[in-house]
Amino acid sequence: MSKPIIFTDKIDITYNLGKQNEFKANKGTTLELFAEEYIILFGPSGCGKSTLLYSMFGVLPPSAGKIYVKGQSIYDFTPAEMVNFQRKTMGIMYQSFNLINSITVLDNVSLPLIFAGMPSYVREKRAMELLKRFAIDHVAHKRPTLLSGGQQQRVSAARSLVNDPEILIADEPVGNLDSISAQQVMDTLETINSRDRKTVLLVTHDAKYLPYAHRVVHLKDGKLMGITANPEKKQIKKIVPGETIITELEQISRIYPYISPGEVRVKSIVNYLTQGLSFDQLSHLEKIVEEVMEGKISDQMMFDIMIAEQAEHGLGLTENVAKDIASKMRKIVFQSTDIARLRAMKQRGTPITSQDEHIKRIQRYILNEYDLNVTEEQSMVLGEAIEQRVLGFIKKEDFKEVLSAPLSEKGVGLDTKTMHMTARYLEKLLAQGVAAGSIKTGE
Ligand code: ADP
Ligand code: MG
Repeated sequence: MSKPIIFTDKIDITYNLGKQNEFKANKGTTLELFAEEYIILFGPSGCGKSTLLYSMFGVLPPSAGKIYVKGQSIYDFTPAEMVNFQRKTMGIMYQSFNLINSITVLDNVSLPLIFAGMPSYVREKRAMELLKRFAIDHVAHKRPTLLSGGQQQRVSAARSLVNDPEILIADEPVGNLDSISAQQVMDTLETINSRDRKTVLLVTHDAKYLPYAHRVVHLKDGKLMGITANPEKKQIKKIVPGETIITELEQISRIYPYISPGEVRVKSIVNYLTQGLSFDQLSHLEKIVEEVMEGKISDQMMFDIMIAEQAEHGLGLTENVAKDIASKMRKIVFQSTDIARLRAMKQRGTPITSQDEHIKRIQRYILNEYDLNVTEEQSMVLGEAIEQRVLGFIKKEDFKEVLSAPLSEKGVGLDTKTMHMTARYLEKLLAQGVAAGSIKTGE
């Protein structure tokens, strides 16, 4: 494993240091980011994301600790070295684009090259190439104000790349864009990472963008709460056990990268509740489940809609099926609160064992669901496997392996069918519990 490209060594960043209104925006943040990673700094507004980002850009010195980029302590640079660093190593994109409106798009993009002392034909050629690549070359000679927000942000992406920096940092770059433009800009950043092999460091408070990252750095109140690795991406940094949480939720959000965590949660639960419903019935059911989960309609109303004829805007389900769906839904939402509690305990650093009451309850839920009886020995192994899975130390496939391995090999010894059902049920609880807990920190 190579050395980190960015390393923040126990940094504090304090505004108004020594004054009455002193404010610690980052507290003891230690972070190692590796070349070619796509990293998202994630957390609610005011948690210190931008502060951390700008400190890595060299414009906000920490009050304690050091920041190393490519092994060099950046705040020990001379002024000339700092200018060189910000020009050559770092590219930056802002939420508000920061384009100069009195000059053309092409000049905006080529401007950084003037400072680098390049002849004008080289500058224009390079800038034009980038504009072409981001499909905005047809507006090269217009002023930025005549462009849509999405186009302006792609100009800004082109400008940030014109000096061919190794690291691109972006502060809520799609925060001001409509969803289609946001998608285009996010896809642009994705290719900058995967194709140009730039290290990308993006700040967002919106969970729907998390699937783009290799790793997500979770921040809260100026503190680093944890780092999660995206199971869908081939990791650059070696994964440390416990950093991985892989749930169906992440898989769904990979398929629907532009929906909110709440919507992902709804899809997950509807997925579980329904088999044999038509597409129309499914999308209708998603709507109703969403409204129930947001407390907009009551369980009774949900039931009434489910049994009403489709012609009367109902789902046309039989009473038995509707009852079954409603009670399963309640049960899974209720049972998943234990997952959310466990994950909160883990975040606080509370030690958790397989004998924990939450783990035991989760085990009971699963066993009761399928009327399973297990011996004390099986129960011990199962408890441990549940603990490992809930805390993210093992993947779903590893969990299944433990379930089906014979007792003599430290497994639970379940038959294939029971193993699949049991694992699936735990995954459902996980998806709901994780959604309700750590992942859902949006505003
Ligand atoms: P985020 O980007 O996560 O929304 P910021 O890094 O912008 O958060 O801000 C973190 C905290 O630091 C906030 O409480 C904010 O009010 C405070 N803060 C930001 N900039 C300044 C500043 N220049 N002076 C004093 N406090 C600041
Ligand atoms: Mg910010």
